[in-house]
Amino acid sequence: MSEVAVRVRELTVSYLTSSGELPAVNDVSFDLMAHSITGIVGESGSGKSTLAFAMVNAIPRAARRRSGSVEITGVGDISLLKGEDLRRVRGRRLGFIVQASQNSMNPLRRVGKQLLDMGRSHGVGRQVLPRAQGLAKQMGLDAGGVLTAYPHELSGGMRQRAALIFALVLDTSVLILDEPTTALDTISQAAVLKIIRDLHQQRELTTILVSHDLSVVAEIADHVLVMYAGRIVEEGDTASVVGSPAHPYTLGLMRSIPRLWGDLESAQPLSGSPPDLTQVPATGCVFRERCPLRMEVCDRVIPELQPAGGGTRRVACHAVVEGGWAPLAATRGAR
Ligand code: ATP
Ligand code: MG
Repeated sequence: MSEVAVRVRELTVSYLTSSGELPAVNDVSFDLMAHSITGIVGESGSGKSTLAFAMVNAIPRAARRRSGSVEITGVGDISLLKGEDLRRVRGRRLGFIVQASQNSMNPLRRVGKQLLDMGRSHGVGRQVLPRAQGLAKQMGLDAGGVLTAYPHELSGGMRQRAALIFALVLDTSVLILDEPTTALDTISQAAVLKIIRDLHQQRELTTILVSHDLSVVAEIADHVLVMYAGRIVEEGDTASVVGSPAHPYTLGLMRSIPRLWGDLESAQPLSGSPPDLTQVPATGCVFRERCPLRMEVCDRVIPELQPAGGGTRRVACHAVVEGGWAPLAATRGAR
């Protein structure tokens, strides 16, 4: 697990809006280790999807990559690829399941036909079909039934599995999933997470899972990146970040999930509103308006993401750095 599969450096992606350029991903740098599962977590509007799009060089029309690189081992900087080169890498190396992917298939074409279209456009032709059948079987689906179905004939959980077939059928090695379980009920959510974990292991993938739900990330990820208003505020191995959060935002996220916090009495929703880029000041800490540890320096200086507490942990918080390393609170009764 020591090899880097994806290396993101100083990545800034901004939306061009009537209120000016708003950086939805702001000077973000991190490494993803090969064969690990990394969770990217944060409230709505924190920039998770924009980051995921930038990692496959598919940022929305209204956005621009202002700086930075996304180096994928064996591919190079994907941000520099275009046209046919980019299309080939996207299908063969990177599998991407977009947010609300249950709506992304063509409703008028059977699943199998859409897979065939994909196989043809990537030069593998009908070979996609046995591969898709294998994947379907692995996920506990009736392969024949799914391939001859129209997307609307599948349940939400089945459509999410079908999306996984599309993402993996070309023998992808890096899998990016944006909110893969958000639209599902709890039972289907657990089933899909298990499938993701199994496929990840069997295929030795490097997996990135984006979710606004820290409990989903805690369940599946080896490593976690916590985002707020376009910045990574904390990262580290999941057990230590969840077991002893250092950034006040991570602690807030934890406390808002009774199951993770482990104490129903003291669990509480995060105070304040989710990040709004038009309100986030350009300098100082992006979280300061909601932060219980706010100090004078937080208004002036952007806190750097820096190592804290050993291991792979990095934290962007003046209070944590100045106060010396200390996790903010031990979780009570957390599983
Ligand atoms: P969610 O959990 O709701 O999916 P997210 O973390 O994925 O949120 P993004 O979709 O990446 O967040 O959006 C990040 C920020 O960029 C938000 O503040 C959002 O309002 C802004 N944004 C997204 N798309 C556009 C757009 N087309 N034009 C302007 N701003 C946008
Ligand atoms: Mg999103």
